[in-house]
Amino acid sequence: MIVVMDLAASREQIAEVQQRLRDYGYQGSLIRGGKRIVIGAVGDRREIESMELEAMPGVERVIPITKPYQLVSQEARNGKSIVRVGKAQVGGPSLVVMAGPCAVENREQILTTAGRVAAAGATVLRGGVFKPRTSPYSFQGLELAGLQLLAEAAAETGLATVTEVIDEHSLEMALDYVDMIQIGARNMQNFSLLRQVGRSGKPVLLKRGMSATIEEWLMAAEYIASEGNEQIVLCERGIRTFEKATRNTLDLSAVPLVKEWSHLPVIVDPSHAVGLRRLVAPVSRAAVAAGADGLIIEVHPDPARALSDGPQSLKPEEFAILMDELVPVAAAVGRSLRVMAGE
Ligand code: PEP
Ligand code: MN
Repeated sequence: MIVVMDLAASREQIAEVQQRLRDYGYQGSLIRGGKRIVIGAVGDRREIESMELEAMPGVERVIPITKPYQLVSQEARNGKSIVRVGKAQVGGPSLVVMAGPCAVENREQILTTAGRVAAAGATVLRGGVFKPRTSPYSFQGLELAGLQLLAEAAAETGLATVTEVIDEHSLEMALDYVDMIQIGARNMQNFSLLRQVGRSGKPVLLKRGMSATIEEWLMAAEYIASEGNEQIVLCERGIRTFEKATRNTLDLSAVPLVKEWSHLPVIVDPSHAVGLRRLVAPVSRAAVAAGADGLIIEVHPDPARALSDGPQSLKPEEFAILMDELVPVAAAVGRSLRVMAGE
């Protein structure tokens, strides 16, 4: 890090900062400019918070050089991680498409959807059973009955499954039934839940918080990794901006940027990003072109009657058309679609 001293910093203040750096095992060298002194310090940033130095008399500001996350950083791995979810390999040469309804509503709905998305080439079935709804009066999910239906749909189709958990209790329940645990945008900074999914050892789909910076998102991933679980797939699902025309604003630049900063795979959720069915296909194509490792798309057999997120859900036939459209886009960026494990 670089510690920039005040123009008026006294000799004693500079010496105190140097001593504090030494106490933490840093080597600090003084750089004297015409008017000002800066200290270049080399060491492990995890041991000293820049805020501690910034609070010292005579310090103007501290500029960190290394990233605050370690385990999930690109430097930690120098390559790309592959996260296995059932037969799907997220981050491998083949794109992984997760699809299904926002919420599991009943047996027929989830079994029909599962069959249709599997036939179109999806390899992971999504379906919420613990729904973090804005209103306490909205449908909250089928909980245990929904988990059992997801497991039944998986057994019938061979799809892997992903579902969102919202607290320790729902996590404990979900672990026995699904292949991947989703942490939703609203819980991205629920640090105790992040630690718990880290300890669970299951693959995690970590959505970006709706007002989280990319660095905060990666720090959330670091919480999971710090508990020994690096099977993390990041999911860009749009952030809140002043724009009202779409539900959120998809930050597509996050996809290539996260790939520079982290070894973790990243997928895109076009459904929650745009909130409008007709925009899901073009935004999905753009996400694949930008280098996403996959997509998670809401599909409902009868969106007009969906208990949640109907306006952004594709009908199964629309989803199948989109999957066909994605094949040449994937090929253009050196990826493939619909390569099943074993092929
Ligand atoms: C969802 O996937 O249904 C969901 C609630 O997504 P998000 O957490 O991104 O809003
Ligand atoms: Mn939804």
